[in-house]
Amino acid sequence: MSDRATTLAEGYTRSHRVYEWMGLALAGLCLVGATMRVLAIEATALVWLGALALAMAFADLVSGLAHWAFDTWGGLDTPVLGKLAIRTFRHHHVDPKAITRHDFVETNGHNAMLSVVLAAPVAHVGHALPSFASLFLTFAAFFVAFTSQLHKWAHMEHPPRVVRWFQRAGLALSPEAHAVHHESPHEGAYCVTTGWMNVLLDRTCFFRCAERVISAVTGARPRASE
Ligand SMILES: [Zn+2]
Ligand SMILES: [Zn+2]
Repeated sequence: MSDRATTLAEGYTRSHRVYEWMGLALAGLCLVGATMRVLAIEATALVWLGALALAMAFADLVSGLAHWAFDTWGGLDTPVLGKLAIRTFRHHHVDPKAITRHDFVETNGHNAMLSVVLAAPVAHVGHALPSFASLFLTFAAFFVAFTSQLHKWAHMEHPPRVVRWFQRAGLALSPEAHAVHHESPHEGAYCVTTGWMNVLLDRTCFFRCAERVISAVTGARPRASE
């Protein structure tokens, strides 16, 4: 392992671990509450499938935007986000296989915390939401919570057989599609849930155009700390 990989790995602190456990606990409560709500919903299969597909695309888009942001802007010394998120993304580039050695908490804790924003409204005021909205938010919460797990499976030599089946079917991020991102300079294929949105975002110059606009407005340079 390189010195940089070791240094970045050592940034995984006890307080970050506590934060991840809190994320899993909160997400667990909210996801169970949201699931109980949506199981009581009477809707057609088409509505359920529509909400599921839209939620998968949405979670994939969110993963791509977050991944791009943390790969592109700031550094380890960025307040709050440097240690909370940017470190793990920078570490992933210098040691892509490290993710396969992370346990369930380190893999999923941070994303679980983010999923609370989606699951909590359904768990607490789901009765006041339209059925489709509750279904969408609940499915999106699950996919956001377990995006890093899907990313981890895409890096494993031998993921569970059922996961490999989903990867081949295009329903989970595939190793082949994700390998594109790990080619230097890591400037495409940012989406790591299903990978569905990568074609759209990469072929439309979405990220490069966003970088030009942000640079023009703020003066910041993309990947300046790499
Ligand atoms: Zn990356
Ligand atoms: Zn990766």
